[in-house]
Amino acid sequence: MPTPEEQIARLEGVSRGFRSRYLKQAELEAQLQAWAEAFPSLVSLRSIGRSLDGRDLWVLVVGPDPDRVRPTVWIDGNMHASEVCGSSVALSIAEDMIRLHLEGTVHRLSAPVCARLKEVLFHVMPRMSPDGAEAVLTDSGYLRSNPRDRRPNRQHARWQGGDVDGDGLAQVMRVRDPGGEFVEAREFPGLLVPRTLDDEGPFYKLYPEGLIENFDGRHVPSPHFLADNDTDLNRNFPYSWAPEPEQAGAGAYPTSEPESRAVVEHITAHPEVFAWLNLHTFGGVFIRPSGHSPDSKMDADDLALFRQIGQWAESLTGYPMVSGFEEFLYEPEKPLHGDLIDFGYHQRGAIAYVCEVWDLFKQLGIARKKPFVDHYTQLTRDDLVALARWDEAHNAGRIFRGWTKERHPQLGEVEVGGVDPRVGIWNPPFDLLGGICVQQSQAFLRVAAMAPSLSIAKVEAKPLEGELSLVTVTVQNDGYLSTAGVASAKKLPWNEPLTLEIKGEGIAMVGGDGWREIGHLDGWGRGLYGGASLIFQRSRGNLGTRVVEQVVRGRGTVQVRVGACRVGWVEARVEVGSGGQ
Ligand SMILES: [Zn+2]
Repeated sequence: MPTPEEQIARLEGVSRGFRSRYLKQAELEAQLQAWAEAFPSLVSLRSIGRSLDGRDLWVLVVGPDPDRVRPTVWIDGNMHASEVCGSSVALSIAEDMIRLHLEGTVHRLSAPVCARLKEVLFHVMPRMSPDGAEAVLTDSGYLRSNPRDRRPNRQHARWQGGDVDGDGLAQVMRVRDPGGEFVEAREFPGLLVPRTLDDEGPFYKLYPEGLIENFDGRHVPSPHFLADNDTDLNRNFPYSWAPEPEQAGAGAYPTSEPESRAVVEHITAHPEVFAWLNLHTFGGVFIRPSGHSPDSKMDADDLALFRQIGQWAESLTGYPMVSGFEEFLYEPEKPLHGDLIDFGYHQRGAIAYVCEVWDLFKQLGIARKKPFVDHYTQLTRDDLVALARWDEAHNAGRIFRGWTKERHPQLGEVEVGGVDPRVGIWNPPFDLLGGICVQQSQAFLRVAAMAPSLSIAKVEAKPLEGELSLVTVTVQNDGYLSTAGVASAKKLPWNEPLTLEIKGEGIAMVGGDGWREIGHLDGWGRGLYGGASLIFQRSRGNLGTRVVEQVVRGRGTVQVRVGACRVGWVEARVEVGSGGQ
């Protein structure tokens, strides 16, 4: 048996460095396999599907005895191709949990939190879009989710990103044009900013580096935000899915992509998932439900839980937590359709939320905007200049690369280069990544520690007359959350109540058949401002406990089993009829 010190040395020895850089797919797979090989009793690896390019969709399961159903959390990252930082954060949380199992603690979390975390299983999908991430890490071209093109409609003109100047990267092209919407910033040569009425030029059009399919030689098509791929995975999930044009990026039908299909099938087979972290970049904000209605229409108990999680998250990471509906609609009162966390919350009853990792706006000194989504749409020229200066001073100039003249086969003279947003805009700089991973882990591990915790606190047998005994079972939930998970999840039809079964070989039930439904058991947690006030401190009744009695006849061992698909099952035994009790 290796000592804990040797185990930790082994954990550190197999690290592939994801806390200080972004791993390509082969390295990411090697990391997952290295953990599974080094710690087979703690870590297992499952492929839940394959991408269209044939890459495995990996889920890492962290926790001993992975097939024993028990409260489980899900973490996914990198469903958007360019948001590779989510993979690093997901891997960091997985590594922290391995460390917690080996050392008993991590990040100086309190003993009660660590004890609870050991009971929780972690399903970690570090990279939901391996095809997309690989393309972005290889040539930097912008992709929303995946580099795939299954369109039957192929006659119209359309941009196709790619390397034009032979440097291996697909960046941006600028073309001089009196109708250009961009002009060089006087304060920062090479930086293009939106043109104003007072600018004198030269003016530029900005296009993706690449070629135009079906070009007529005259008319340049507008580049599409979704780039080469018309499906955004985060609009392709079944809850409240809506087709184009109502929802851009929806895909042909819900779960039309192998990645969204695999996630939905996996999660549907695991009703024990009670919390869900969906990692994106960038912004420095947590986005919580509901995406479809204001807080005033949300379940009040759920809202109190999210208030609590928001308070932890903000104090540990500095990022605020905002409602999707109230602060993250790109068009007011037009909810997003088919996104992942609405599926996780409304359909799977999980505490589901997004983190937009990397608070670039804060780094640039931009004050918090309300609604938060305005950060993305209301950047000024001054903000862009601040970004260029920040890049020079703090990001080794990785973003702004300057321009080189090139002859474009379709457009003639162009300049290629400009911006490489991968490290600095879309994702944090390498030297900040490690600290961000720690903060995100600290915040999410608290959420994971809210898990319901079902136990059989006591089982007793009392002899009655003759061959009869009275079996008394005390079932308890010591967790923060109810055995149903969040309050609103109680109404989901698959979220069956706890059942209790008493049986034993040669033991007969007297009155009833030993089976009964006992309902869900309340947790002790009340969220923030959701429980007793300081001026009237009272509890709810002991709704987290149920006592069940059953008269049995015979002698031998009585087995008791309690549980539900949401929290798994626990068992206990007691001897009856052996006399002398
Ligand atoms: Zn995203």
